[in-house]
Amino acid sequence: MLRPSQTFKVVPSLPPRIAPLRELAYNLWWAWNLDAVDLFIRLDRDLWDQTFHNPVRMLGAIRQERLVEAANDDGFVANLTRVYQAFSRYMNADDTWFRRQTNGDLQDLHIAYFSAEFGITESMQTYSGGLGVLAGDHLKSASDLGVPLVGVGLLYQEGYFQQYLNADGWQQESYPDNDFYNLPVTQVLDAQGNPLMVEVDYPGRKVRAQVWRAQVGRVPLYLLNTNIDVNAPEDRVITGQLYGGYEDMRIRQEIMLGIGGMRALRALGITPTVCHMNEGHSSFLGHERIRMMMQEQGVSFPVALHVTSAGNVFTTHTAVPAGIDLFPIHLMDHYFTEYYRALGIGREEFLRLGQRDSAQGVSFSMANLALRLADHVNGVSELHGEVAREMWKDLWPRVPVEEVPITSITNGIHPRSWISTDMGSLLLRYLGPAWIERPDDHSVWEGITRIPDEELWRTHERRRERLVAVARERLRRQLERRGAQPQDIAEASEVLDPEALTIVFARRFATYKRALLLFSDPERLSAILNHRGRPVQLIFAGKAHPHDNPGKEFIRKLVHLGRRDDMRQHLIFLEDYDMALARYLVQGADVWLNTPRRGLEASGTSGMKAAANGGINLSTLDGWWVEGYSPDVGWAIGHGEVYQDVFYGDEVEARALYDLLERDVVPLFYDRGADGLPGRWIARMKRSMSGITPRFNTLRMLEEY
Ligand SMILES: *Cc1c(COP(=O)(O)O)cnc(C)c1O
Repeated sequence: MLRPSQTFKVVPSLPPRIAPLRELAYNLWWAWNLDAVDLFIRLDRDLWDQTFHNPVRMLGAIRQERLVEAANDDGFVANLTRVYQAFSRYMNADDTWFRRQTNGDLQDLHIAYFSAEFGITESMQTYSGGLGVLAGDHLKSASDLGVPLVGVGLLYQEGYFQQYLNADGWQQESYPDNDFYNLPVTQVLDAQGNPLMVEVDYPGRKVRAQVWRAQVGRVPLYLLNTNIDVNAPEDRVITGQLYGGYEDMRIRQEIMLGIGGMRALRALGITPTVCHMNEGHSSFLGHERIRMMMQEQGVSFPVALHVTSAGNVFTTHTAVPAGIDLFPIHLMDHYFTEYYRALGIGREEFLRLGQRDSAQGVSFSMANLALRLADHVNGVSELHGEVAREMWKDLWPRVPVEEVPITSITNGIHPRSWISTDMGSLLLRYLGPAWIERPDDHSVWEGITRIPDEELWRTHERRRERLVAVARERLRRQLERRGAQPQDIAEASEVLDPEALTIVFARRFATYKRALLLFSDPERLSAILNHRGRPVQLIFAGKAHPHDNPGKEFIRKLVHLGRRDDMRQHLIFLEDYDMALARYLVQGADVWLNTPRRGLEASGTSGMKAAANGGINLSTLDGWWVEGYSPDVGWAIGHGEVYQDVFYGDEVEARALYDLLERDVVPLFYDRGADGLPGRWIARMKRSMSGITPRFNTLRMLEEY
């Protein structure tokens, strides 16, 4: 059973001169405003790291003397004042993009953005990977643009797992306990000052959830938690782990997210005009919207369905059927019999909403439900739009596949959250603040050509050196924990070379991403890595889903390959890929490698983060790279073929990858001019940054939504 959360507030009273720190700590605006982060680092760098970059916990743990000292430090107070003023200006600005676009029209627009995960910053472990990070970047851009949006999700007691490997390289999972009272979240109170609760009917009982609020700049994010005394033990764990458990747990979670989430909004007095389902996990919200409308306006089910669907948006993120939540019919009967009666419809009609066609299937698909309850449906890249139209064409039997009403809006990133401070200051010097305020303006990024090669290269090299230092330190700690030989631990501080061409592969270890493609011919790879005068090194990171044994086997193989004498200097696996590690990797990589089988990666966003920092993408033509690639900004492995025989396809693409490395990538990197600079490489970096970043960012993405 889960432990109850602690029930006390820990942030002490702060001396008045530094009191604004508390407000800054509780608004996640700091997560993309590095001047604010610097304040916390200046307060106590070690504590900042020990608290896993969590300012709330840090302020609770810091010595009182240090706070008094900071309050007496005029330099610190001046900096704090400057940051706090910038924050206040941001929060109170009335000339936002949204205001300018709409001229005060659309006053009634209220968007509720539902997602099972939100990746905003590493200390809030409410995300597992790309879907959550995208949701986090979505909220940050909504805040920047002034879009009237609130986020809705779950506050997990344990979140997603942390990864470590045993001595054999087999993935182990551990679930740390989230102490909400020490996170940048606050409990929402009702009019009487009691914790705001929502109540959802489950068979034979009511389950209650408490509502918490995280503030993401101007955007509130409401998170539901069921780990409270009034609930039975088996209901307290509903918000235990992200994507934890099997079907029965997942359906209980998704009921709370969709139905509980709508009820939370109602309790908060928010009536959304648009509900955005980020993936199908939240699609029960569609039922609840219908139910509420029937109750409030006395209309029939078909009318309410018709009206509410016009205000529902569904973004599908998966290109693999296994990625879709399917619930067996007996579970639907168990959890929904009362509910569909309340909707005034029969069992058949209810079940049909989650099925492909009128034939009675064996399971209920959350994606199908979302497709039927939302009038606006989109995939997350142009290619994924095509794949999704093909995948779901049966739902529109009388329409040719190209007219299936599923469009695409290609994913993006929130540049300010991902660009290093070093690169950010360089951009500020040559592009001005416009790169922050208008990152989707192409003319701003053309300014990259004004950056002298030398400066861009030195900045990038600093980030690569930093990455190597961090990798060595992490590797040392990994080996210590695994109980490695002292000799091996000592060697950890010698692995990698801060000046060598650094290729990074960091992503979920789903097998279709083919983390081992590069190892198809270990001898050929070894020759590339160990080439005299042109060394190459590889850094890998990524988690396999706890139930994905083939994915874990990939990691184990990789770790074993890394023990070969001819590889150990050049190949490492870093444990526990998360947003903090991702930043180091995307900011320090020379080459960002991605090798999914065509059609299976819906979009991908990490390559956009690398590009924004001057890394160059080397990828199969899948997801966003189909749109982002051109021969002058990066490299494509193959030509976008789909192979019937996947093993044959792997062979062909592995060879293409080696060819590219040997003939293009490595020679270009080591082609140095009289000034010691790789002029042609730098030119490519510049084209990549100015060509990719203004297109693949979440500001552009939100404007399209
Ligand atoms: C950006 C990011 C992702 C998503 O990147 P992909 O290209 O989809 O792999 C996943 N995990 C973390 C921690 C990230 O920062």
